[in-house]
Amino acid sequence: MNTYISSVINGVKQKYAHQPEFCQTVEEVLSSLEPVVERHPEYEKVDLLGRMVEPERMFTFRVVWEDDNGNWHTNTGYRCQFNGAIGPYKGGIRFQKNVNPSIMKFLGFEQTFKNSLTGLPIGGGKGGSDFDPTGRSDSEIMRFCQSFMQALYRYIGPDTDVPAGDMGVGGREIGYLFGEYRRLKGKFENGVLTGKGFSYGGSLIRPEATGYGAVYYLENVLKDDGQDIKGKTIACAGFGNVTWGICRKAVELGAKVVTLSGPDGYVYDPAGVCTPEKIDFLVAMRASGRNKVKDYADKFGVEFHEGEKPWGVKVDICMPSAMQNDVHLEEAKKIAANNVRYYIEVANMPTTNEALRFLMEQPDMIVAPSKAVNAGGVATSALEMSQNSERLVWTAEEVDNQLHNIMNTIYKNSVDAAMRNDLGYNLVAGANIAGFERVADAMMQQGVF
Ligand code: GLU
Repeated sequence: MNTYISSVINGVKQKYAHQPEFCQTVEEVLSSLEPVVERHPEYEKVDLLGRMVEPERMFTFRVVWEDDNGNWHTNTGYRCQFNGAIGPYKGGIRFQKNVNPSIMKFLGFEQTFKNSLTGLPIGGGKGGSDFDPTGRSDSEIMRFCQSFMQALYRYIGPDTDVPAGDMGVGGREIGYLFGEYRRLKGKFENGVLTGKGFSYGGSLIRPEATGYGAVYYLENVLKDDGQDIKGKTIACAGFGNVTWGICRKAVELGAKVVTLSGPDGYVYDPAGVCTPEKIDFLVAMRASGRNKVKDYADKFGVEFHEGEKPWGVKVDICMPSAMQNDVHLEEAKKIAANNVRYYIEVANMPTTNEALRFLMEQPDMIVAPSKAVNAGGVATSALEMSQNSERLVWTAEEVDNQLHNIMNTIYKNSVDAAMRNDLGYNLVAGANIAGFERVADAMMQQGVF
């Protein structure tokens, strides 16, 4: 491997050995960049890669909140403003008990490349808290969000840093966060957050966008492979907003999602999560705060596999859409043994590097990376920002058309970037390279800092 790339990867692994997810993403992305870095020896002189793996700014803050019994709790809040070279920092907020600096940095790093790939003017950021929303009442969630924003509001803004939702943060939380921001600032700056409710500046199609975008990307893959999406079976993981969007778009195009998963196990519904009743139930299940996918099996009388993951189910397409490191080598081997041809990552970094390498080595398998596949969510957030700054509202059709075009372009740019660099049809390396080139170019033009 190129010596500059390997020295940066090794440096990160030594310095941040206690941040495994961050080391993992740095290794995965940087090792794809060999042909580009070889062509640009000037990058080493200004330590471009060394600067890219260090967040521009990252901070923690104290979040104190009162539960319904009058007891007070203290959590850690985070915001990682990873790279602002091509636009204001942009990326979601995650509320989950395992949130830590490694998870924040891995997500912020991935976001930088993903946002660049959209072609829109958004830098990379991420935030969150180790707060666990499971089983918390609506008032508790509101108080937590208000306290979180009291600490964060000074450091964000429509041209500075624009947070959005992620795991544990949906429309309800964004509403409470926005309300508190407005109260503190005394201004209606709705461009400060995306994923807002439609009544106060949200964009139509934003809730569906990540799932729809993933299916639009999948359609590109299938088309280039001479296949039709109609009649295909899909294994999904998770049962949140992203999976919901995939289910809806898949049904519309004649495909079906047959698995869902949660922390308690997975469900197998051979008839597919197809009817409006089933799809709506996902929303209710998520809103209940119980975080149990077994509720779906109980309601619709389908198989529930306690404590297991859905990756052993025979399907045409796997779309891991739950969370990071869901698919290890063991699961990857099951997927390959089932002759699955399309492995389309959806959640951020759902595959360990070892499993990803294994899957990419399978001669008959096509692997697509999450930073391209799930980019429709943040891309539609950028469309929400445009509407906010124009003080306009676009129709659902306008937003959906733009999303569709953006996904087609992301796919095409990834394919082209790999081809240009003699890597063949490699969607993983292509996405990394295409995302990297734009940020690298902007950083080179802006001077060294
Ligand atoms: N959390 C989502 C992501 O990972 C959305 C971010 C956004 O809309 O800013 O891309």
